[in-house]
Amino acid sequence: MTPLDTLIKQFERFPGIGSRQARRFAFHILTLSNEEVSQLVHLIQTVHSQVIPCPSCFRFHTSVSGDTRCSICRDSSRDVHKLTIVERDSDVDAIERGGVYDGLYFVLGGMVPLLDSQDTKKVRGGALKHTIKTRIPQGLKEVILAFSINPDGENTGRYVSMLLNESIASNAITITHLGRGLSTGSELEYADSETIKNAFKNRS
Ligand SMILES: [Zn+2]
Repeated sequence: MTPLDTLIKQFERFPGIGSRQARRFAFHILTLSNEEVSQLVHLIQTVHSQVIPCPSCFRFHTSVSGDTRCSICRDSSRDVHKLTIVERDSDVDAIERGGVYDGLYFVLGGMVPLLDSQDTKKVRGGALKHTIKTRIPQGLKEVILAFSINPDGENTGRYVSMLLNESIASNAITITHLGRGLSTGSELEYADSETIKNAFKNRS
């Protein structure tokens, strides 16, 4: 395999990128100047070394002054009674844009597909249990499930409920779901602020 073929293969591994797009990316790189290529390589290395997952919520963030926690987990004005579990980083951004939620988060990292319920490798189940365990003595009272309203989202909700069953039952914590203001099949990422606000207000 030539280096060009290898590069195309690498791009094919990107989420949502097919072989045609991967080829276009690779050929675009061939049109760049040496300087532009150096800048791109440097940028990727910088992002890769400075942007790290928060050890508590697993959101990717730029680490400042050696503190590995993200700005939300570091913020002492956030309400430690509430923790919202989302599928991915962009869901946190969407909820923050809604401006109504002031609790903490956990980014699960993926979904548990309905048709392959054994496929839990891509989600951070163990890390979630650990985060919940450390948040309980800090006053955690409510775990909010904020997954997409579709079969995979609902299945992921069942998986998380099962995972947390023990720690939740013995510590009087409630699990709530976002209100159905979010229409069926909708993804948080694309919901507008008003819809997200209502979904949080109408959670149950
Ligand atoms: Zn965090």
